[in-house]
Amino acid sequence: MKIATVHETRPHERRVALVPGQVSRLTEAGLQVAVEPDAGRAAGFTDNDYRDAGAEITEDALAGAGAVLSVQPLTARQVRALAPHAITVSFLPATQELELVAALRDAGATSLAMELVPRISRAQPMDALSSQSFVAGYRAALLAAERLPRFLPLSMTASGTIPPARVLVLGAGVAGLQAIATARRLGAVVRAYDVRAASADEVRSLGADFIELELPALEGSGGYAREMTDERSRLQRELLAPHVADADVLITTASVPGRTAPLLVTAEMVAGMRHGSVVVDLAAEGGGNVEGVKPGEEVTIGSATVIGGQNVPSQLPGQASQLYSANVVNLLLLLRSGDYLVPDFEDEIVAGCCVTHGGEVRHGPTKDLLA
Ligand code: NAD
Repeated sequence: MKIATVHETRPHERRVALVPGQVSRLTEAGLQVAVEPDAGRAAGFTDNDYRDAGAEITEDALAGAGAVLSVQPLTARQVRALAPHAITVSFLPATQELELVAALRDAGATSLAMELVPRISRAQPMDALSSQSFVAGYRAALLAAERLPRFLPLSMTASGTIPPARVLVLGAGVAGLQAIATARRLGAVVRAYDVRAASADEVRSLGADFIELELPALEGSGGYAREMTDERSRLQRELLAPHVADADVLITTASVPGRTAPLLVTAEMVAGMRHGSVVVDLAAEGGGNVEGVKPGEEVTIGSATVIGGQNVPSQLPGQASQLYSANVVNLLLLLRSGDYLVPDFEDEIVAGCCVTHGGEVRHGPTKDLLA
Protein backbone atom coordinates (compact mmCIF):
# COMPACT_ATOMS: atom_id res chain seq x y z
CA MET A 1 0.00 0.00 0.00
CA LYS A 2 1.34 3.41 -0.99
CA ILE A 3 1.39 6.34 1.45
CA ALA A 4 1.62 9.73 -0.29
CA THR A 5 2.77 13.02 1.19
CA VAL A 6 1.70 16.08 -0.77
CA HIS A 7 3.29 19.50 -1.18
CA GLU A 8 1.23 21.93 0.94
CA THR A 9 -0.76 24.42 -1.12
CA ARG A 10 -2.20 26.91 1.38
CA PRO A 11 -0.52 30.31 1.84
CA HIS A 12 1.93 30.62 4.78
CA GLU A 13 2.09 26.84 5.29
CA ARG A 14 5.73 25.80 5.61
CA ARG A 15 5.26 22.51 7.42
CA VAL A 16 5.22 19.06 5.81
CA ALA A 17 3.17 16.10 7.02
CA LEU A 18 5.95 13.50 6.86
CA VAL A 19 9.59 14.18 7.72
CA PRO A 20 12.41 11.94 6.44
CA GLY A 21 13.04 10.67 9.97
CA GLN A 22 9.60 9.02 10.05
CA VAL A 23 9.78 7.32 6.62
CA SER A 24 11.42 4.13 7.90
CA ARG A 25 8.62 3.58 10.42
CA LEU A 26 6.26 3.23 7.46
CA THR A 27 8.55 1.21 5.18
CA GLU A 28 9.39 -1.19 8.03
CA ALA A 29 5.63 -1.73 8.38
CA GLY A 30 5.52 -2.93 4.74
CA LEU A 31 4.18 0.36 3.32
CA GLN A 32 5.62 2.25 0.33
CA VAL A 33 6.24 5.96 0.73
CA ALA A 34 5.88 8.50 -2.08
CA VAL A 35 6.51 12.21 -1.62
CA GLU A 36 5.81 15.08 -4.03
CA PRO A 37 8.92 16.99 -5.15
CA ASP A 38 9.95 19.80 -2.79
CA ALA A 39 7.21 18.86 -0.30
CA GLY A 40 9.62 19.30 2.61
CA ARG A 41 11.70 22.16 1.25
CA ALA A 42 10.09 24.99 3.25
CA ALA A 43 10.55 22.92 6.42
CA GLY A 44 14.25 22.29 5.67
CA PHE A 45 14.05 18.75 4.20
CA THR A 46 15.37 18.08 0.69
CA ASP A 47 14.14 15.50 -1.81
CA ASN A 48 17.44 13.67 -1.31
CA ASP A 49 16.77 13.47 2.44
CA TYR A 50 13.54 11.62 1.62
CA ARG A 51 15.22 9.39 -1.00
CA ASP A 52 17.97 8.49 1.47
CA ALA A 53 15.27 7.57 3.99
CA GLY A 54 13.64 5.18 1.51
CA ALA A 55 10.89 7.30 -0.08
CA GLU A 56 10.18 7.76 -3.77
CA ILE A 57 9.98 11.35 -4.99
CA THR A 58 7.33 11.68 -7.68
CA GLU A 59 4.85 14.19 -9.10
CA ASP A 60 2.37 11.30 -9.18
CA ALA A 61 2.55 10.53 -5.45
CA LEU A 62 -1.22 10.85 -5.09
CA ALA A 63 -2.09 8.45 -7.92
CA GLY A 64 -3.22 5.12 -6.50
CA ALA A 65 -2.18 6.03 -2.94
CA GLY A 66 -4.00 4.18 -0.16
CA ALA A 67 -3.38 7.04 2.25
CA VAL A 68 -2.55 10.72 1.67
CA LEU A 69 -0.87 12.81 4.34
CA SER A 70 -0.95 16.59 4.57
CA VAL A 71 -0.93 19.31 7.20
CA GLN A 72 -3.72 21.45 5.76
CA PRO A 73 -6.81 19.91 4.14
CA LEU A 74 -6.42 18.71 0.55
CA THR A 75 -7.69 20.91 -2.27
CA ALA A 76 -10.82 19.99 -4.23
CA ARG A 77 -8.55 19.05 -7.16
CA GLN A 78 -6.51 16.71 -4.96
CA VAL A 79 -9.71 15.11 -3.61
CA ARG A 80 -10.83 14.41 -7.19
CA ALA A 81 -7.48 12.66 -7.80
CA LEU A 82 -7.82 10.31 -4.81
CA ALA A 83 -7.88 6.57 -5.36
CA PRO A 84 -11.17 4.87 -4.38
CA HIS A 85 -11.34 4.28 -0.59
CA ALA A 86 -8.22 6.34 0.07
CA ILE A 87 -7.55 7.51 3.62
CA THR A 88 -6.68 11.17 4.10
CA VAL A 89 -4.96 12.43 7.24
CA SER A 90 -4.67 16.18 7.87
CA PHE A 91 -6.01 18.98 9.98
CA LEU A 92 -9.59 19.34 8.74
CA PRO A 93 -11.80 21.94 10.43
CA ALA A 94 -14.81 19.99 9.22
CA THR A 95 -17.62 22.34 10.22
CA GLN A 96 -15.88 25.22 8.41
CA GLU A 97 -14.96 23.20 5.28
CA LEU A 98 -18.36 21.85 4.31
CA GLU A 99 -17.78 21.78 0.55
CA LEU A 100 -14.56 19.89 0.98
CA VAL A 101 -16.12 17.43 3.42
CA ALA A 102 -18.92 16.81 0.90
CA ALA A 103 -16.29 16.19 -1.79
CA LEU A 104 -14.42 13.74 0.46
CA ARG A 105 -17.70 11.97 1.22
CA ASP A 106 -18.61 11.77 -2.46
CA ALA A 107 -15.12 10.47 -3.31
CA GLY A 108 -15.68 7.63 -0.83
CA ALA A 109 -12.60 8.71 1.15
CA THR A 110 -11.96 7.92 4.79
CA SER A 111 -10.92 11.35 6.06
CA LEU A 112 -9.29 11.62 9.47
CA ALA A 113 -9.03 15.04 11.14
CA MET A 114 -6.04 15.46 13.46
CA GLU A 115 -7.84 18.07 15.58
CA LEU A 116 -10.56 15.52 16.37
CA VAL A 117 -8.22 12.92 17.87
CA PRO A 118 -9.74 12.40 21.34
CA ARG A 119 -7.66 13.93 24.16
CA ILE A 120 -7.30 10.70 26.09
CA SER A 121 -4.04 9.31 27.49
CA ARG A 122 -3.73 6.56 24.86
CA ALA A 123 -4.01 9.14 22.07
CA GLN A 124 -1.33 11.50 23.39
CA PRO A 125 1.29 10.32 20.84
CA MET A 126 -1.21 11.31 18.10
CA ASP A 127 -2.24 14.62 19.67
CA ALA A 128 -1.29 17.15 17.02
CA LEU A 129 -3.25 19.95 18.69
CA SER A 130 -0.95 19.63 21.68
CA SER A 131 2.27 19.24 19.69
CA GLN A 132 1.53 22.31 17.57
CA SER A 133 0.33 24.35 20.58
CA PHE A 134 3.62 23.50 22.25
CA VAL A 135 5.49 25.06 19.31
CA ALA A 136 3.15 28.08 19.18
CA GLY A 137 3.52 28.83 22.89
CA TYR A 138 7.30 28.84 22.70
CA ARG A 139 7.26 31.02 19.60
CA ALA A 140 4.77 33.49 21.13
CA ALA A 141 7.14 34.26 23.99
CA LEU A 142 10.03 34.82 21.58
CA LEU A 143 7.93 37.05 19.30
CA ALA A 144 7.01 39.18 22.30
CA ALA A 145 10.61 39.32 23.56
CA GLU A 146 11.87 40.36 20.16
CA ARG A 147 9.35 43.20 19.75
CA LEU A 148 9.58 44.44 23.36
CA PRO A 149 11.80 47.52 23.55
CA ARG A 150 13.30 46.51 26.89
CA PHE A 151 15.16 43.75 28.73
CA LEU A 152 13.30 40.72 30.03
CA PRO A 153 15.62 39.59 32.85
CA LEU A 154 16.62 41.40 35.98
CA SER A 155 20.05 42.85 35.15
CA MET A 156 22.39 44.10 37.84
CA THR A 157 25.28 46.02 36.37
CA ALA A 158 27.87 48.50 37.65
CA SER A 159 25.83 51.15 35.86
CA GLY A 160 22.63 50.32 37.62
CA THR A 161 19.90 47.75 38.04
CA ILE A 162 17.29 46.98 35.39
CA PRO A 163 14.13 45.40 36.80
CA PRO A 164 12.70 42.33 35.04
CA ALA A 165 9.88 42.65 32.53
CA ARG A 166 6.42 41.52 33.59
CA VAL A 167 4.71 38.94 31.41
CA LEU A 168 1.05 38.04 31.76
CA VAL A 169 -0.25 34.84 30.13
CA LEU A 170 -4.01 34.30 29.81
CA GLY A 171 -4.99 30.70 29.10
CA ALA A 172 -2.61 28.16 30.69
CA GLY A 173 -3.22 25.12 28.47
CA VAL A 174 -0.49 23.54 26.36
CA ALA A 175 0.50 26.76 24.53
CA GLY A 176 0.17 28.97 27.59
CA LEU A 177 2.35 26.72 29.74
CA GLN A 178 5.04 26.67 27.06
CA ALA A 179 4.87 30.49 26.76
CA ILE A 180 5.24 30.71 30.54
CA ALA A 181 8.22 28.33 30.57
CA THR A 182 9.93 30.25 27.77
CA ALA A 183 9.34 33.69 29.31
CA ARG A 184 10.66 32.37 32.62
CA ARG A 185 13.81 31.06 30.92
CA LEU A 186 14.30 34.54 29.47
CA GLY A 187 14.18 35.92 33.00
CA ALA A 188 10.78 37.64 33.04
CA VAL A 189 8.48 37.74 36.04
CA VAL A 190 5.44 35.79 34.86
CA ARG A 191 1.85 35.69 36.04
CA ALA A 192 -0.90 33.62 34.48
CA TYR A 193 -4.62 33.04 34.62
CA ASP A 194 -6.89 30.26 33.39
CA VAL A 195 -10.53 29.49 34.05
CA ARG A 196 -9.55 25.90 34.85
CA ALA A 197 -8.56 25.85 38.52
CA ALA A 198 -6.61 22.63 37.75
CA SER A 199 -4.02 24.65 35.81
CA ALA A 200 -2.89 26.62 38.91
CA ASP A 201 -0.42 23.95 40.08
CA GLU A 202 1.05 23.58 36.58
CA VAL A 203 1.57 27.36 36.39
CA ARG A 204 3.24 27.46 39.80
CA SER A 205 5.48 24.49 38.97
CA LEU A 206 7.00 26.64 36.21
CA GLY A 207 7.90 29.39 38.66
CA ALA A 208 5.06 31.73 37.69
CA ASP A 209 2.30 33.21 39.86
CA PHE A 210 -1.25 32.04 39.29
CA ILE A 211 -3.81 34.83 39.45
CA GLU A 212 -6.85 33.87 41.52
CA LEU A 213 -10.01 35.76 40.57
CA GLU A 214 -13.14 35.82 42.68
CA LEU A 215 -15.08 33.86 40.05
CA PRO A 216 -16.48 30.31 40.09
CA ALA A 217 -14.21 27.82 38.26
CA LEU A 218 -15.36 26.93 34.79
CA GLU A 219 -14.35 23.42 33.91
CA GLY A 220 -16.02 21.42 31.15
CA SER A 221 -15.59 17.78 30.20
CA GLY A 222 -12.17 16.23 29.46
CA GLY A 223 -10.31 19.00 31.27
CA TYR A 224 -11.41 21.60 28.71
CA ALA A 225 -12.90 25.00 29.49
CA ARG A 226 -16.61 25.67 28.97
CA GLU A 227 -18.03 28.77 27.36
CA MET A 228 -18.81 31.64 29.73
CA THR A 229 -21.90 33.78 30.08
CA ASP A 230 -21.62 37.42 28.97
CA GLU A 231 -21.89 38.61 32.56
CA ARG A 232 -19.12 36.32 33.75
CA SER A 233 -16.91 37.42 30.83
CA ARG A 234 -17.45 41.07 31.71
CA LEU A 235 -16.61 40.43 35.35
CA GLN A 236 -13.50 38.45 34.37
CA ARG A 237 -12.29 41.33 32.18
CA GLU A 238 -12.91 43.80 34.99
CA LEU A 239 -10.92 41.72 37.48
CA LEU A 240 -8.11 41.12 35.00
CA ALA A 241 -7.80 44.81 34.05
CA PRO A 242 -5.27 45.77 36.77
CA HIS A 243 -3.11 42.76 35.90
CA VAL A 244 -3.16 43.71 32.21
CA ALA A 245 -2.31 47.33 33.05
CA ASP A 246 0.71 46.14 35.02
CA ALA A 247 2.16 43.96 32.22
CA ASP A 248 4.91 44.71 29.68
CA VAL A 249 3.94 41.62 27.70
CA LEU A 250 0.55 39.98 27.36
CA ILE A 251 0.25 36.56 25.71
CA THR A 252 -3.24 35.18 25.19
CA THR A 253 -3.99 31.56 24.24
CA ALA A 254 -7.55 30.97 25.42
CA SER A 255 -9.91 28.98 23.31
CA VAL A 256 -12.99 26.84 23.80
CA PRO A 257 -13.15 23.88 21.37
CA GLY A 258 -15.57 24.45 18.50
CA ARG A 259 -16.41 28.04 19.53
CA THR A 260 -15.21 31.54 18.76
CA ALA A 261 -12.35 32.47 21.10
CA PRO A 262 -13.51 34.36 24.22
CA LEU A 263 -12.83 38.10 24.35
CA LEU A 264 -10.58 38.46 27.40
CA VAL A 265 -9.06 41.89 26.86
CA THR A 266 -10.70 45.00 25.42
CA ALA A 267 -8.88 47.63 23.35
CA GLU A 268 -9.30 49.99 26.30
CA MET A 269 -7.44 47.52 28.56
CA VAL A 270 -4.61 47.27 26.00
CA ALA A 271 -4.42 51.05 25.70
CA GLY A 272 -3.92 51.14 29.48
CA MET A 273 -0.85 48.88 29.40
CA ARG A 274 2.68 50.06 30.16
CA HIS A 275 4.39 52.22 27.53
CA GLY A 276 5.76 50.17 24.60
CA SER A 277 4.14 46.94 25.75
CA VAL A 278 3.62 43.98 23.42
CA VAL A 279 0.61 41.72 23.05
CA VAL A 280 0.69 38.36 21.24
CA ASP A 281 -2.74 36.81 20.66
CA LEU A 282 -2.44 33.14 19.68
CA ALA A 283 -6.22 32.88 19.41
CA ALA A 284 -6.36 35.57 16.69
CA GLU A 285 -7.43 33.14 13.94
CA GLY A 286 -10.34 31.92 16.07
CA GLY A 287 -11.70 35.45 16.56
CA GLY A 288 -9.09 36.66 19.04
CA ASN A 289 -8.86 37.05 22.82
CA VAL A 290 -7.91 40.70 22.34
CA GLU A 291 -10.25 43.28 20.83
CA GLY A 292 -8.93 44.73 17.57
CA VAL A 293 -6.40 41.95 16.86
CA LYS A 294 -5.85 40.90 13.23
CA PRO A 295 -4.43 37.45 12.38
CA GLY A 296 -1.01 37.70 10.73
CA GLU A 297 -0.81 41.45 11.35
CA GLU A 298 0.68 43.86 13.82
CA VAL A 299 -1.58 46.71 14.95
CA THR A 300 -0.94 49.51 17.42
CA ILE A 301 -3.41 50.15 20.23
CA GLY A 302 -2.40 53.06 22.50
CA SER A 303 1.37 52.55 22.69
CA ALA A 304 1.09 48.75 22.57
CA THR A 305 2.09 46.56 19.63
CA VAL A 306 -0.57 43.89 19.16
CA ILE A 307 0.53 40.82 17.15
CA GLY A 308 -2.14 38.51 15.80
CA GLY A 309 -0.93 34.93 15.53
CA GLN A 310 -1.47 33.19 12.21
CA ASN A 311 -0.30 29.61 11.75
CA VAL A 312 2.39 30.26 14.35
CA PRO A 313 3.72 26.65 14.40
CA SER A 314 4.66 27.14 10.75
CA GLN A 315 7.20 29.75 11.88
CA LEU A 316 9.32 26.89 13.28
CA PRO A 317 8.53 24.57 10.37
CA GLY A 318 11.19 21.89 10.79
CA GLN A 319 10.43 20.95 14.35
CA ALA A 320 6.70 21.59 14.08
CA SER A 321 6.74 19.13 11.14
CA GLN A 322 8.84 16.64 13.09
CA LEU A 323 6.25 16.57 15.90
CA TYR A 324 3.24 16.59 13.57
CA SER A 325 4.74 13.83 11.45
CA ALA A 326 5.22 11.63 14.52
CA ASN A 327 1.56 12.23 15.45
CA VAL A 328 0.39 11.31 11.93
CA VAL A 329 2.54 8.18 11.67
CA ASN A 330 1.38 7.03 15.11
CA LEU A 331 -2.21 7.39 13.95
CA LEU A 332 -1.52 5.58 10.66
CA LEU A 333 0.17 2.69 12.40
CA LEU A 334 -2.88 2.36 14.64
CA LEU A 335 -4.82 1.48 11.44
CA ARG A 336 -2.32 -1.14 10.37
CA SER A 337 -3.61 -4.58 9.57
CA GLY A 338 -0.92 -6.69 7.90
CA ASP A 339 0.48 -4.69 4.97
CA TYR A 340 -2.71 -2.58 4.79
CA LEU A 341 -4.35 0.24 6.73
CA VAL A 342 -7.90 -0.57 7.79
CA PRO A 343 -9.91 1.82 9.98
CA ASP A 344 -11.39 0.04 12.99
CA PHE A 345 -14.39 2.04 14.20
CA GLU A 346 -14.52 0.04 17.42
CA ASP A 347 -11.44 2.05 18.38
CA GLU A 348 -12.55 5.33 19.96
CA ILE A 349 -9.53 7.17 18.52
CA VAL A 350 -10.39 6.17 14.95
CA ALA A 351 -14.12 6.71 15.46
CA GLY A 352 -13.48 10.08 17.13
CA CYS A 353 -11.33 11.60 14.39
CA CYS A 354 -13.12 10.20 11.34
CA VAL A 355 -15.02 12.83 9.34
CA THR A 356 -16.08 10.78 6.30
CA HIS A 357 -16.09 7.07 5.49
CA GLY A 358 -17.82 4.82 2.98
CA GLY A 359 -19.71 7.69 1.30
CA GLU A 360 -21.05 9.07 4.60
CA VAL A 361 -20.23 11.92 6.93
CA ARG A 362 -19.56 10.41 10.36
CA HIS A 363 -18.74 13.61 12.28
CA GLY A 364 -22.05 14.53 13.91
CA PRO A 365 -21.89 18.37 13.91
CA THR A 366 -20.70 18.41 10.27
CA LYS A 367 -23.35 15.90 9.23
CA ASP A 368 -26.03 18.14 10.77
CA LEU A 369 -24.71 21.19 8.91
CA LEU A 370 -24.69 19.30 5.59
CA ALA A 371 -28.20 17.89 6.08
P1 NAD B 1 -7.14 25.12 24.39
O1 NAD B 1 -6.14 25.45 23.36
O2 NAD B 1 -8.49 24.68 23.98
O3 NAD B 1 -7.31 26.40 25.37
C1 NAD B 1 -6.19 27.00 25.97
C2 NAD B 1 -6.46 27.35 27.41
O4 NAD B 1 -7.37 28.46 27.48
C3 NAD B 1 -7.11 26.23 28.22
O5 NAD B 1 -6.29 25.94 29.33
C4 NAD B 1 -8.46 26.83 28.66
O6 NAD B 1 -8.85 26.40 29.95
C5 NAD B 1 -8.17 28.32 28.63
N1 NAD B 1 -9.35 29.16 28.56
C6 NAD B 1 -10.49 28.99 27.86
N2 NAD B 1 -11.34 30.02 28.07
C7 NAD B 1 -10.71 30.87 28.92
C8 NAD B 1 -11.06 32.11 29.52
N3 NAD B 1 -12.24 32.67 29.28
N4 NAD B 1 -10.18 32.71 30.34
C9 NAD B 1 -8.99 32.13 30.60
N5 NAD B 1 -8.59 30.96 30.07
C10 NAD B 1 -9.44 30.33 29.24
O7 NAD B 1 -6.63 24.03 25.40
P2 NAD B 1 -5.38 23.04 25.31
O8 NAD B 1 -4.17 23.76 25.69
O9 NAD B 1 -5.36 22.35 23.99
O10 NAD B 1 -5.77 21.98 26.43
C11 NAD B 1 -6.38 22.37 27.62
C12 NAD B 1 -6.33 21.23 28.61
O11 NAD B 1 -6.87 20.02 28.03
C13 NAD B 1 -4.93 20.80 29.01
O12 NAD B 1 -4.27 21.65 29.83
C14 NAD B 1 -5.27 19.44 29.60
O13 NAD B 1 -5.83 19.56 30.87
C15 NAD B 1 -6.27 18.92 28.62
N6 NAD B 1 -5.58 18.08 27.64
C16 NAD B 1 -5.61 16.73 27.83
C17 NAD B 1 -4.92 15.91 26.92
C18 NAD B 1 -4.91 14.43 27.09
O14 NAD B 1 -5.32 13.93 28.10
N7 NAD B 1 -4.48 13.72 26.06
C19 NAD B 1 -4.23 16.44 25.86
C20 NAD B 1 -4.21 17.82 25.71
C21 NAD B 1 -4.90 18.62 26.59
